[in-house]
Order: sequence, then structure tokens, then C-alpha cells
Amino acid sequence: MAFGLMSVIPLLICFYLISVRFFGGSLAILEGANGAYFLLALIIAMLGLLAGRRVIQEIFQRLVDANQTLRRMYDQQAAFVGNVAHEFRAPLAVMKGALDNLADGLHGSLSSDQAEPVTMSQREASRLARLVNDLLDVTRIEAGRLRLSQQSVVLQELLTSVAQMFSGPIRERGLHVTIDMPEQPVTIIGDRDRLKQVFVNLMGNAVKFTKQGTISVRLTQDHAIAQIEIEDTGPGIAEADLERIFDKFERVGDQSEEGSGLGLPIAKDLIQLHHGIIVAESHLGKGSRFIVTLPMQPPSGSAHPAAPTAARAS
Ligand code: ADP
Repeated sequence: MAFGLMSVIPLLICFYLISVRFFGGSLAILEGANGAYFLLALIIAMLGLLAGRRVIQEIFQRLVDANQTLRRMYDQQAAFVGNVAHEFRAPLAVMKGALDNLADGLHGSLSSDQAEPVTMSQREASRLARLVNDLLDVTRIEAGRLRLSQQSVVLQELLTSVAQMFSGPIRERGLHVTIDMPEQPVTIIGDRDRLKQVFVNLMGNAVKFTKQGTISVRLTQDHAIAQIEIEDTGPGIAEADLERIFDKFERVGDQSEEGSGLGLPIAKDLIQLHHGIIVAESHLGKGSRFIVTLPMQPPSGSAHPAAPTAARAS
């Protein structure tokens, strides 16, 4: 129908222009030999349009088919990654447990020559386990299978426990940490473990990328909105890269630090599932600031809204 209309409208306009504008509305063009030529031209134009319409329809159908094939391939790939990650989990847990037992001296004390490869294997097994868990999270979120629990979470407690988790590396690097939070408890309804995962990632990145200086954690509340900021004096992120850091497997900068590029995309999705937004601001060479804004109560009746992500650089 749409194609039919599209074909007829230009023809009518041509007819109008030729007959009414150039022949003063006298329809003189249709008299004698001119009329025959005009009719022939009209038939040729109609045939051309019909053929063109068929070509456009074919191209359109091919694009629809290609899109469906791509979607199917993407779903198969995501299912494959999910299955592989799932199959990796159990043997990895066994290996990690055995390595932990060895390191703890459960099978006799280790010489320094033996302890070194065991510690290295423990570190790599933990890294692999983190990657497997991240891949599982990504596939669960993309398939809409991630369910959040609804708990009462006091953000002061959550942020303090996250900061404590990094006290070791913070001390080792000689970093300064400031935590600025209101005394009155700021409580939100959400999934404690998943929110913790987000702030562990943000804090982990701040510690990982900051060689010296300060990491500031700030919590504020404005009406029914809680805002958490994690700011560092690390290398910062170039403006051109800032948009990409929330995409899967994207790592920017010198990439000398360990990482999979999955932490921020998962954090973004988890915050969106909590009806919030996450924003990154950065000054290259000066540091980065990640701002998470969360409603304290989930809006009633909306299950999984797609909240926007934003990135700002200066
Ligand atoms: P990962 O840290 O595992 O590589 P993320 O998704 O958490 O993955 O981060 C993606 C990339 O964003 C990082 O590799 C890094 O290039 C950049 N990035 C994230 N946080 C910071 C930060 N605080 N300072 C500088 N760069 C950062």
C-alpha cells in the first residue's frame, strides 16, 4: 500500500506540473501526437516504478532476513558463552579450593619454591573465576533472567564495607581516602549484593588506576534520590574514550592494569535495573568521577526500565 502510494504521488505531481503549470491548465499536452507520447512516457514511468518497487521490496526483505539471521547468531553466541561460563564454574571452584588448601598448608608446609607457583595459580584462578562470573552476569542480564531482591539497604553501611575491602591495596599504595556521608541513614530499597558489586567495581577501578593521591567517596540525599560519587586522582579518561567505557569488553588508556572490560557495563545494567543512572566525568591527567543516582524507592509498576547512561569529559 505504502509503495503504491509512493509510486503514484510523484506521477500525479509530474502530471500536475506539466499540464497545469506549463500548459495553463488547458491539458493541451494530451492532444494529437503529444498525447500519444505523453501516454507512452506515462506507461514507461509506471513500468519503471513497478520494477523499482519490486527491487526495493526485495532489498527490504533481504535486510529483514539478514537482521533475523544476525539476531539468531547473536543469541546462539550468547547462549554458547553462557553455557561455557557455566561449565567452567564448578571445576574452577574445585581447583581454587585445592590451591587454597595447598597454600594453607593442609597437605604439609610448602617450601618457598613451592609457595610461589601456588600463590600465582591462586591469583590466576581467582581472576578466571571473576571473569566467568562476569560472563554469567552479562548473559543473565541480556536474557532478562537476572532477578533483584528487594531489601532495605543503608548506603552508609554498604559504602563503608566496600571501602574496608580495599584497605589493603589502599595502604600498600599510600593512597588517601576520604568518606563524606550524612549522619542520618540513607536507606534505599534494592538488592544489597548487586549494589555492593557495583560499588566494589567503581572503588576497585579507582584504587587500581590511581597510583597516588586521593579517592573520595561522597553520599548525598536530595528528597527521594540518593547520589553516590567515587572520585579519584588517577590518569583520567580521554573524552573520545569516555562514551565507550560502559560498552562490553572496552578497555581504554594504557591497559597495563588487569581487567576484562566487563565491570562497568555490568554496573550500568545493575544500576538501570534499580531505576538509577550512572555517569562518568573525567579530566585527562587529573582523575575520574563516577556518579550513581538511585531512587530510594523503586517506582511502582515498572519492572525493568531502560534508564540512560551518560558520560561527560572535560
Ligand atoms: P576493567 O576495569 O575490568 O578493565 P571496567 O569495565 O570496570 O573493566 O572498566 C573499563 C575501562 O574503563 C577500564 O579498562 C579503564 O580503561 C577505564 N576506567 C574505568 N574506571 C577508571 C578509572 N577510575 N580511572 C581510569 N580509567 C578507568
